[in-house]
Amino acid sequence: MTTLYELLAGEDNHPALLAPGKPPVTYGQLRENVLKLAAQLNQFGFGRGDRIAIAMINGPELITAFLAAATAGTSAPLNPKYKQEEFAFYYEDTAAKALITSPEGIPAAIAAALPTMTLLTVEADAQGRCSLERAAGQARSATYAPKPVELSLEDDVAMILHTSGTTSRPKRVPLRHRNLFASAGNIRGTYSLSSADITLCVMPLFHIHGIVGSMLSTLSSGGTVVCPAGFNAMEFLSLFETYSPTWYSAVPTMHQMVLARLSKHADVVRKKPLRFIRSSSAPMPGVVRERLEELFQAPQLDSYGMTEASHQMASNPLPPRERKGGSVGIGFGVEVRIMDDVGNLLKPGEIGEVVVRGPNVVDGYENNPEANAAAYTNGWFRTGDQGVQDAEGYLSLTGRIKELINRGGEKVSPLEIDDVLLRHPAVAEALAFAVPHKMLGEEIHAAVVLKGECESAELRAHCAAALAEYKVPKKFHVLTEIPRGATGKLQRINMAKFLQVGSED
Ligand code: ATP
Ligand code: MG
Repeated sequence: MTTLYELLAGEDNHPALLAPGKPPVTYGQLRENVLKLAAQLNQFGFGRGDRIAIAMINGPELITAFLAAATAGTSAPLNPKYKQEEFAFYYEDTAAKALITSPEGIPAAIAAALPTMTLLTVEADAQGRCSLERAAGQARSATYAPKPVELSLEDDVAMILHTSGTTSRPKRVPLRHRNLFASAGNIRGTYSLSSADITLCVMPLFHIHGIVGSMLSTLSSGGTVVCPAGFNAMEFLSLFETYSPTWYSAVPTMHQMVLARLSKHADVVRKKPLRFIRSSSAPMPGVVRERLEELFQAPQLDSYGMTEASHQMASNPLPPRERKGGSVGIGFGVEVRIMDDVGNLLKPGEIGEVVVRGPNVVDGYENNPEANAAAYTNGWFRTGDQGVQDAEGYLSLTGRIKELINRGGEKVSPLEIDDVLLRHPAVAEALAFAVPHKMLGEEIHAAVVLKGECESAELRAHCAAALAEYKVPKKFHVLTEIPRGATGKLQRINMAKFLQVGSED
C-alpha cells in the first residue's frame, strides 16, 4: 500500500507539525486527526472520487485537511489569495464538490460567486485536535447522505493541481497516491532525510514544491515540519532561532529575500547550522547560490521540479558527492534524458528537450487529449525545458523552449543574460525577454529592478563585457517590481505585452 496516509512515517510521540502560537502536533495526533476528518467528510457525504478544494493559509490545520481530503477523496489545494474570477476558474475546472477553509473563511465575494459550494471550516482546539464544521452562516440547508468509510487506494487521484501557467493556460494534473508516494521517497533519498530532520516550510502549500518538496518528503521520513503562515523574510531569523531547522526549500526569489534580510546576521545564522539549503522551481542565479553558501556555510542544492512529475526530477546531491554550479543535478528514482524533436535520445553534450520517466510522473493531463499527445513520446514525458547533460548525467537547463529568444535566427537563452545582469552590484532583479521585431523576428530587452544608481549605458557595457554583442539587450526597462505568477515565477513571455513594447521600440 502506498497512500498518503500510509506515508506518515513518524513515531506516535514524535513532533510532526510545529507552528508559532499553535500547539505541537505529534504523529499520533496527526494520524488521529486525519482519520477523524476523513470520517467527517464521509459523514458530510463526500468520499472516493469526490474533489474537495482547500483554500487556507499554511499551517497545521491546512496540512491535516489536505491529508484528510486525500484520504477520503481527492484533495484540491487552491491559492487562498485568488480573486473572485481566478477562484471560480480553478474551483470549477477542478469540479470540486466542497471547499474546506479556516474559520476566518474566504472573502464573501468568492463565496457568493460559488452558490453551489459546500463550505466547511477546519478548526483545532488548544490540544491541536481538529474537527470540521459546516461554515457558519451558510444559507443552504444540509441534506447529508453519509458515505461509508472507504479509504483511498494507491491508484486513486490523491490531489488535483494546476500547472503554474507560466507558458500557457494552467493545465489540470491528476496526481495519484503512488505518484506522490514515489516522489516523496525520491526526495527523502536524495537528501538522506530522517526523523532527526526539521524543515522550515516556507513554500505555499497549494504548489507542488511546498506540498511534496517540503511537507510530504519530511512526513515520509518521520521528521518535523515547521509550518508558519507563509513566507515572511522579516520573520525568518526568529523562526530560525526558535526551531533550529536542519534544512529548508524555497524558490530563488525567496532565497534572495532571505539573503537581503540575514546578511547582517551571519553570526546568529551560523550558530544554527543547516545540513543543506534547497532551491527549486525556477532558475537559481549563480551569484545567489554563492552568497547563500557563504552566509549559511552549508551546501546549496539546486533541484529541478515540475507539477507533472510530482515535483522533483533531478537534484544536486549532498556532499561528499559533487554539486555542480549551474546544474540542477542528477535524477534520483527518475530517469532523465535529452531528446530531439523527432524522439531520438541524445548523447551527453548535445542540447535538446529534457524528457523524464519514472513512477512519480503522472499518466497524463485530465481532459486534455491535445496536451497529452504533445507531452508523451515513446513513454517519455516531455518537460518543455531545454537542456544538456554531461558525461556523469548532471543536467543543465538552458531555458524553457517557449521562452528561448530567436533573434534573427540566433537562439538566445534569456537565463544567461539574467545571470550576467544580476552580477552587477546595482541590480536587484533582472529579466531578459523577447520583443517582436520587424527585421529580426525578436529583439532582446531586459527589465531590471535596481538597488543603486545605474544608467542604461553602464548596464549595456556590463553585459557587453560578458556576452556576445547579439545577446546584449537593446533596451533596459527600470521597474520598481517585476510581475510574478502566483507561485513567484517571473512571467517572461508576457513581459513585452505587460510593458507595451512592440516592434518599433
Ligand atoms: P506551465 O506548465 O503552466 O507553463 P510551469 O511549468 O511554470 O507552468 P510548474 O510545474 O510549477 O509550472 O513548473 C515547472 C517548471 O519550472 C519546469 O518545467 C522548469 O521550466 C521550471 N523549473 C523548475 N525547477 C527549476 C530549476 N531548478 N531551475 C530552472 N527552472 C526550473
Ligand atoms: Mg510546465
